[in-house]
Amino acid sequence: QPVIVAIDGPSGTGKSSTSKAVAAQLGLSYLDTGAQYRAITWWMVSNGIDIEDPTAIAAVAGKPEIVSGTDPADPTITVDGTDVAGPIRTQEVTSKVSAVSAVPEVRTRITDLQRSLAASAERGIVVEGRDIGTTVLPDADLKIFLTASPEARAARRSGELKGADVHSTREALIKRDEADSSRKTSPLAKADDAVEVDTTELTLAQVIECVVTLVGE
Ligand code: C5P
Repeated sequence: QPVIVAIDGPSGTGKSSTSKAVAAQLGLSYLDTGAQYRAITWWMVSNGIDIEDPTAIAAVAGKPEIVSGTDPADPTITVDGTDVAGPIRTQEVTSKVSAVSAVPEVRTRITDLQRSLAASAERGIVVEGRDIGTTVLPDADLKIFLTASPEARAARRSGELKGADVHSTREALIKRDEADSSRKTSPLAKADDAVEVDTTELTLAQVIECVVTLVGE
C-alpha cells in the first residue's frame, strides 16, 4: 500500500529540505508543488502575459506543459521541455507567483498534475505545498503543517539567498504568505487532521526525525 504524506506550511519553515530528506530516507517519491506554480509563473512572464490580469492568465493556463521529476535525490522541473530549475527561483518569479497561483484555472490545472503524480508513485510520495492536506490530497495518510516564527523564517530564507537583507526578505515573505492565505481558492491552511510542528527551535535533523517517526506510527 503506497504511503501519501502531505507537508504544508508557509515559506522558510524548512518544508523543502524536510520533505526531500524524508522521501529519500523512506524510499518515496517527492513533489515540490511550489516549483510547479513557479514554473507556470515563469512561462507567463516569459510570454508577456499581464500578471495583473486574471482573465488573461486563465485563458492560457492550459498551454505550458509542466513536467516534474519526482526523485528526491534529483528533483527536476521542465516547461515545454526546457529545464527551468534555475529561472523559477529569481526574485521576479518569486514576487509574481502568488498572483498567478491565485487564479482558479491555474490551480485546477496544477492540482490535476499533482494528483496524477501522487496516484502513479509506486511506493508512495511526499508532497509539499500550501493546500496539499486540505485540497489536493485530503485522504493523505499523514498530514504535517510546519510553522516557524517570522524571524526564523526570514533568517533561513536570507541564508538561502546568500546574504540577502533579512528585513526586506522578511517583508517579502510576510506579503507572500498573506496573499497565499487570503486567496479564495485553496488558500494556505492547516487541515483539521494535520499535525502541526513548530520548527522555530528545532534543527533540520530534528524536524526530519519527527516526521519520519510520525510516518511510522
Ligand atoms: O514553496 P514555494 O515558496 O516555492 O511556493 C511558491 C508559491 O507557489 C507560493 O508562495 C504560493 O503562491 C504558490 N503555491 C501554492 N500552492 C501550493 C504550493 C505553492 O499556491 N501547493
